[in-house]
Amino acid sequence: MYDIAIIGGGIAGLTAAIYGQRAGKSTVVFEKMSFGGQIVNSPMVENYPGIATISGSELTERLLEQATGLGAETVQAEVLGIEKQPPFAGRGRGNDEEAFGTLFHVRTVEERFECRSVVLAGGMERRLLGVPGEERLKGAGVSYCATCDGMFFKGRDVAVVGGGNTALEDAEFLSEYCKTVYLVHRRDTFRGEEGTVGRLAEKENVEFVLDTVVEEILGEQAVGAIRLWNKKEDGHFLLNVSGVFVAVGQIPKNEPFASLVKLDEAGFVMAGEDGRTSVPGIFVAGDCRMKHVRQLTTAAADGTVAALAAVAWVNGGK
Ligand code: NAP
Repeated sequence: MYDIAIIGGGIAGLTAAIYGQRAGKSTVVFEKMSFGGQIVNSPMVENYPGIATISGSELTERLLEQATGLGAETVQAEVLGIEKQPPFAGRGRGNDEEAFGTLFHVRTVEERFECRSVVLAGGMERRLLGVPGEERLKGAGVSYCATCDGMFFKGRDVAVVGGGNTALEDAEFLSEYCKTVYLVHRRDTFRGEEGTVGRLAEKENVEFVLDTVVEEILGEQAVGAIRLWNKKEDGHFLLNVSGVFVAVGQIPKNEPFASLVKLDEAGFVMAGEDGRTSVPGIFVAGDCRMKHVRQLTTAAADGTVAALAAVAWVNGGK
């Protein structure tokens, strides 16, 4: 039996493990892929306070070492579901037996793990464009995070693909560093905020490429161009760029918990700033929760808040 089961070994999950262990609680972190989450794909992290530059994989290694050094256990397995066990007489503590007595079973393919509380920190993944060249040139010009990788394209021409707030904000961020930012969107109106569209329209180095679909990302060792199709004119053309920032939506990894905790329309776990979900004893941290800013620093902050809420819960608090 663990005090806190943490689903997801990214920055939020590992931070939660550190705080859980330091509070004297037994924690276990489940990770189905590689620890670190999306950040392991970042060759250089330059926005983590106190560390000027570090690779995403090294930052992950350090965090994992810190968490396991404090006694956190890890399980390399996919969590298929969480079951809430009905409390039985005598298990509860304090006056609020029903809630405090709740136990959860975290289920993987091979095992079930009993725990007193859960922190959901499965993160999310950017939706892929799904065009030829994308997979092959990932990390070689194809990026899913402008704030992480934008600086590597200083003074160069790049394309941002998408029409939502992420694409607009990525384009705005990149316009500060890049020579030209082509904002490629499949329709003639943006889904994102008008105010940002207006600011972008005034920038000399931002060009809207509308009603246009990316057909292929080209390049041998690194991105050199994208092949586009303009739907209105039914014309194909090439755009020479060094970078392609894909911002066509995000998919939170919350499917296994959809019938347990409340999710919003986009599939993110609903929770306030305290990380409490709709189910007492289950908390959420990081990118998989409803929030506006998804950064390393906010993931770490969320992990802290959720872990401390779980500690209070296990201690019999509310
Ligand atoms: P989004 O709002 O779902 O927008 C995705 C965009 O990608 C849409 O413009 C969509 O086109 C386009 N798209 C989807 N699939 C595509 C494909 N296969 N090929 C080409 N284009 C494709 O996603 P998001 O921008 O990541 O934002 C997610 C949520 O976070 C939104 O609610 C957003 O408002 C929010 N967000 C908020 C902030 C903020 O408040 N500061 C910042 C970032 C994100 P269509 O428009 O044609 O469907």
